[in-house]
Amino acid sequence: MSDDCIFCSIVDGEIPARTVTETNDVIAFLDANPLAVGHTLVIPKAHHTHLGDLPADLSAAVFEVVSDLTPRVQTAVEADAATVGINDGAAAGQEVPHVHVHIVPRFEGDGGAP
Ligand code: 5GP
Ligand code: ZN
Repeated sequence: MSDDCIFCSIVDGEIPARTVTETNDVIAFLDANPLAVGHTLVIPKAHHTHLGDLPADLSAAVFEVVSDLTPRVQTAVEADAATVGINDGAAAGQEVPHVHVHIVPRFEGDGGAP
């Protein structure tokens, strides 16, 4: 837990979020400012800033949820595909310093990468 981390506050229930799925170590919720309908974030419940900071078992737990959820999100919003990605570091566009994987549903003709 990091005191001033938005995503830690979501994990602790201090900030509301629309949870998509949850395991012991991982939670997925809808992005508050979605790039597309169904835009979902998958995070480890423990606070780590960078992908490389994650212990291997936690990294595996996150990607297990990502792999399971990506096709389900696509189906739910009738998307044609999905962009799955991580902004790792401020220069890459990481605004929240708690590792998170974006699942962004994509639609034919939606105009390119988010
Ligand atoms: P980043 O730019 O760090 O890769 O992505 C951060 C994402 O977190 C953005 O897509 C942003 O919309 C989302 N976000 C920021 N604050 C909140 C929040 O309080 N709740 C939710 N659900 N998403 C948030
Ligand atoms: Zn955090």
